Amino acid sequence: MAGNEKEVLMKADHVKVYFKGKNKKSGTVKAVDDVSFEILKGETFGVVGESGCGKSTLGRTLIRLLDATEGSIYFHGQDISSLKGNDLKEMRKKAQIIFQDPSACLNPRRNLKQILMEPFEIHNLKGKVDVEARIHELLTLVGLDDYHLSRYPHELSGGQKQRVGIARALALEPEIIICDEAVSALDVSVQAQVLNLLQELKEKLGLTYFFISHNLNVVYQVSDRVGVMYLGNMVEIASYDKLYEKRYHPYTEALLSAIPQVDQNAQGERIRLEGEVPNPSNPPSGCRFHTRCPKACDRCMAERPVLKEIAEGHFVACHLYDRED
Ligand code: SF4
Repeated sequence: MAGNEKEVLMKADHVKVYFKGKNKKSGTVKAVDDVSFEILKGETFGVVGESGCGKSTLGRTLIRLLDATEGSIYFHGQDISSLKGNDLKEMRKKAQIIFQDPSACLNPRRNLKQILMEPFEIHNLKGKVDVEARIHELLTLVGLDDYHLSRYPHELSGGQKQRVGIARALALEPEIIICDEAVSALDVSVQAQVLNLLQELKEKLGLTYFFISHNLNVVYQVSDRVGVMYLGNMVEIASYDKLYEKRYHPYTEALLSAIPQVDQNAQGERIRLEGEVPNPSNPPSGCRFHTRCPKACDRCMAERPVLKEIAEGHFVACHLYDRED
């Protein structure tokens, strides 16, 4: 991306992630379909879109929990798409994930100490680092105490469990963390605490986040730049400020119109999208949004728009803004 002075930490280059359907009738699900973008070191890149738009699949593919069907992923300029064995294991130390439902990823039969030991066991680091001291440090970082170490997941609140999930993600000193709907399962008051914690940790540890949420309000609170996804495609990318000031894609406009404004005079008319998100195994031709777009024309049905920079640092995939280069 032109004009960015910050280092590019991660880059997705024409990434596609397809899944074969269970039977012939269900076809191939194109969960992520030709997505390219960069994540800058130290930023929070927020990704928003309706359920099923491919944002979680994309996040998992970035850190190789899923393999891309086509395209490449670069981390510090190195293509990590085909890393295997020890090289892949080393890369994974630097790229971690926090899941939506902490209960589902914490082993109910292990206490907190055992859970926080896991990353060190998986990477054969016991004996090489002072694990006890590191666990104490992790607990302090996420606002838990040593007495929590003997507790089991069912003895913790939702917010505490998510703090454990964050501590585990931090164990191996990662550079980037995929936050996959990391606060969606929490009560609103706890959400705010966890978001504040993530922000503090980012500043203290120099982290980079890829922050996935269906909730644009939450993405707006934490992101430096925002990517909007629709049905496997990235349709708009811009900084928080630019997107707030002017959004170009009709889908982003509709998403933003649903956010309540503090200043009632600034509240525009809510744009209600007709219809459901189409099935990703049988996506619409041309622009995938054309079946719900209030501004669609004939060209939109036939030709897929490409993500282009239409203002400095502002990328949009929509024929309304096509221009001769
Ligand atoms: Fe709407 Fe056409 Fe733009 Fe797609 S390309 S968002 S259908 S105007």
